[in-house]
Amino acid sequence: MTGDAVMLHGQQAVVTGGGRGIGLTIARALAGAGAGVTLIGRDEGRLATAAAGIGPATRFVAADVTDGPALTAALGGLGPVDILINNAGGTDGKPFKRVTADDMRRSLDLNLMGAFHAIQALLPGMVARGAGRIVNIASTAGQKGYAYVVPYCTAKHALIGLTRSLAVELARSGITVNAVCPGYTDTDLLQASLDAIQAKTGLSRDQALSQILAGNPQARPIRPEEVAAAVLWLCGPQAGSVTGQSIGLSGGEVM
Ligand code: NDP
Repeated sequence: MTGDAVMLHGQQAVVTGGGRGIGLTIARALAGAGAGVTLIGRDEGRLATAAAGIGPATRFVAADVTDGPALTAALGGLGPVDILINNAGGTDGKPFKRVTADDMRRSLDLNLMGAFHAIQALLPGMVARGAGRIVNIASTAGQKGYAYVVPYCTAKHALIGLTRSLAVELARSGITVNAVCPGYTDTDLLQASLDAIQAKTGLSRDQALSQILAGNPQARPIRPEEVAAAVLWLCGPQAGSVTGQSIGLSGGEVM
């Protein structure tokens, strides 16, 4: 990396799940670098508030990423898009013996197929322009196994597979495809995981957090701003040779 600030003036970015959490922080970082940003999510009111907080040039479209035709229609109305951040995702923990086929399909629809639909919608324009950046927000759960989250781990591993394969296919196109893989990050998703552990085990909040962070040498949650900084770098011209990577933000845990 260089110390040069990433400048994205004149570029248009889409961030799925951009209304809160990691996605909103990424959207702020992209807008701060000069990109026009469009937020995608299901909750229109939340998106409107988030967009207004970023700035008047920020657009938003309500769409569920698991609904391929709806997402394709939403993205099709945006005009040229240079940067796609597939961030929408989520998890629901339970032991494997209680995981149903529907649980598996739901997780794959959200964490894998949402990215697939968005890429299919926006890639032809990137190919025609000979430039583009696709960043998939995977997880350390895409790089190693964790107990009680088989659907999520499976889908995030698959998202990394999509990233690697597509990057090779597009290697000479001017388009890069990468995954960013945070460990537990301080958002609603982390708070929901702590709630679930506390409900099941009776542990205190601090004990539940220690349990979650047991594999993280830095013993602290990742900050959304740290994820956004990695994404921003991948979107800049300095990262043109970086493609097909799954970059761990794990606090030192080696995958
Ligand atoms: P949050 O739960 O805080 O936010 C999830 C975002 O995804 C929201 O903006 C939500 O918007 C959106 N979203 C969820 N489902 C859909 C859907 N079907 N269609 C469109 N948008 C949807 O999660 P985080 O910010 O923590 O996570 C963001 C990404 O980072 C996810 O892919 C997650 O798996 C990944 N990640 C998170 C980690 C963590 O510890 N927090 C660690 C590693 C990876 P809305 O509800 O308005 O639709």
